[in-house]
Amino acid sequence: MQSIWSTCLTKLQAQTAPEIYRNWFSDIDADESEIEKGRIRLKASSSAKAKSLQMNYGERISAIVQSVFGKPVEILWQSQEPEHIAAPAKTAPTVAVVQKPASIGLLPNLTFENLVSGKANQLAFAAALRVANSTNAIYNPMVIYGGVGLGKTHLMHAIGHLFLKNHPGAKVLCISAQQYLEEFTGAIHQLKNSSNEQAMRKFESKYQNLDLLLVDDIQSFASRTGTQASFFQVFENMVPHGKQIVMTSDTYPRNIKDLQERFSSRMTQGLIVEIEPPELELRIGILHQKAANLNLEMPDNVAEVIAKHLKSNVRELEGAVQQIHAFTNFHQVPVTLDTAQQALRDVFRTTASHVTVEEIQKIVSEHYNLKLTEMQSKKRSAPIAKARQVAMYLAKELTQKSLPEIGALFGGRDHTTVLYATKKITEARRTDEALRHDLHILEQRIKN
Ligand code: ADP
Ligand code: MG
Repeated sequence: MQSIWSTCLTKLQAQTAPEIYRNWFSDIDADESEIEKGRIRLKASSSAKAKSLQMNYGERISAIVQSVFGKPVEILWQSQEPEHIAAPAKTAPTVAVVQKPASIGLLPNLTFENLVSGKANQLAFAAALRVANSTNAIYNPMVIYGGVGLGKTHLMHAIGHLFLKNHPGAKVLCISAQQYLEEFTGAIHQLKNSSNEQAMRKFESKYQNLDLLLVDDIQSFASRTGTQASFFQVFENMVPHGKQIVMTSDTYPRNIKDLQERFSSRMTQGLIVEIEPPELELRIGILHQKAANLNLEMPDNVAEVIAKHLKSNVRELEGAVQQIHAFTNFHQVPVTLDTAQQALRDVFRTTASHVTVEEIQKIVSEHYNLKLTEMQSKKRSAPIAKARQVAMYLAKELTQKSLPEIGALFGGRDHTTVLYATKKITEARRTDEALRHDLHILEQRIKN
């Protein structure tokens, strides 16, 4: 007979990105000897891993085991190092933060548990877990880079929560770059105007002896040389001593305007991970999660239609769920395709008309220094063909137009040509860093 756990693994594998599955689930050992008593022991390779598994995936694994066994099952998390036995996870894990999260700038809901993972964020997600679980600052500094509303801030706060949980006595600080900038300029002001050194000392002491510093939206340091110099000092006090810094940026770090060379090279010496715009499955997953948080029953077909309309960021998806919630509550109706469309009438209208294929062609041809007419021409030279494929890909991603409609707008090309282009760019996007960077810039320009 196939064991309960191997069936669970098959299910987990089907639902999870391969990288996450391999890193997290594939080597869990199960002891099912007490399954009839409603108990299963799951053994991870180390106690740290058992803890993280319990915290990040406990709820999901518990639901799967229960669905396979058909009855509630208590999961006892253990490590294969026998002396460390993790606490049993009878109930859904909660985020127990030792220091008061608010006092160090962490927002309570921005945890790993509340983050849905998918292709677009899996690398960033995995790296963030490693940083939060490690004691030796493996990727230092870590920069989370990506467009607006894609979950950079959320992921950074999640690192803070998990790090604190793993290292309860640690000194953690989470701050926005803007806040740093304002506090620094305030202190400088006092120093210059009233020779008040106290303010500067107070400011500096805030950054002393930190184990983990999280700085959001580092692009705010653009052109601020004084602030950069000050932050460089913080950097030097931490990174060489193995103290972790995590930053987010909506601009590729090397492209932040007027960033001092020494700062920019430090910023890029660790790991830069990108969060990409969420793919369809991830958007659907996020919609379901946001709906569940509001106790809203959202049928799959509704989630799918919304996810197909709202492609650019997660904040938009959240807003849509809230709007549907308000609408269906007010009218006391269930969520159906019809009620969802009524609730989101305005959203659908604006997104549908927002971006046009012509605009995309214009922006892409400018970006690649081509003439707009070359998009529709028959020319097949490599640079033109590539720009055309990029534009077709973006047209498919960002407009509601069908493949034949898009083909028609590119000099009457066949829908199979458009399909080929979108597939090719989707593939290349995974491996070609320069292309990813181009797409990132183009997407931002098209959406603004
Ligand atoms: P950014 O900092 O990149 O602009 P945020 O971290 O503020 O984006 O994310 C925007 C909103 O979307 C937040 O409310 C966040 O909780 C939510 N969010 C982003 N990514 C995810 C995800 N993968 N799963 C669940 N919620 C997400
Ligand atoms: Mg942010």
